[in-house]
Amino acid sequence: MSLSSVQSTLSTLKSCQTDIEACMDMVSDVALGIVEAQGMDNSQALKKLEEMIMECSRLDREINCFVESVDEMTAQVRNEPPEAMVHLRNSVKEHFTELMAGVTDAELQRHSKVISFKDNVRKYAMHAGQTAAENQEELDEDIAVTQSQTNFTCPLTQVEMVNPVKNKKCNHYYDREAILEMIKARHKNKKKFRCPKVGCGNTDVQESDLELDLVMKRMIQNHKRQTGKT
Ligand SMILES: [Zn+2]
Repeated sequence: MSLSSVQSTLSTLKSCQTDIEACMDMVSDVALGIVEAQGMDNSQALKKLEEMIMECSRLDREINCFVESVDEMTAQVRNEPPEAMVHLRNSVKEHFTELMAGVTDAELQRHSKVISFKDNVRKYAMHAGQTAAENQEELDEDIAVTQSQTNFTCPLTQVEMVNPVKNKKCNHYYDREAILEMIKARHKNKKKFRCPKVGCGNTDVQESDLELDLVMKRMIQNHKRQTGKT
C-alpha cells in the first residue's frame, strides 16, 4: 500500500465525520419530538437517545485518533526505505489503541453536538412550558404573531427560515443555504462577509461560526402549522 493511497483513504474516512454529525443532529431532533409530545416525562427514551449520541461521539473520536495515528506513523517512515512500511500497520494499531485508551466519557461529552443535544432538550422543554403558560393567559395573538414573524425571518431571504443557523459570534440567525452561498461568493472574491442583520457590527462571518439550531427550526415549523390552520 502506497502512502498516497493511505492519504486518500484517510480523506474518505474524514468525510464520514460529516455523516456522523448529521446523524447526531437527527438524534437531537428525535429527542425534541419526544419533548414536544410528552414533555420531560419520557426520560427513559431521552436517556436512550443520549446513549446513542454518545456512541456517535465515540465513533467521531475514533476516526480522529485513527487519522492522527496514521499521520504520525507515516511521517516517521516517509524518509525510510520501503521495508519500514511493513511495520507501519502494527505501529498504527498500537498508537491508535493507546490514544483511544486515554479517551474519557467526560471528553466525549464535550463534543459540540452532545452539548447542543442537552442544550436543545433543556431549551425546548422550557419553551414548551412557556407556550403552555402563554396559552393559559390568552396572550394577544396579534402581538405574538408579529413578534415571532420578526424572529423567524432570514435577513437575507426576507422569508421564514427553513434551516435556521445561529452565528455563535453575534447571535444572529440566517437560513443556512442562503448564508453559505453568500459567504462562498464573497470568499471567492477574497472579501469578508459582513453579518446581514441591520446594525450588527460583525464584519467577518465564517462558516465555522454557524450552527444549526434545531429548537428554532422546530419553533418555526410549529408556527407555520399554527398560522396555516387559521
Ligand atoms: Zn450579526
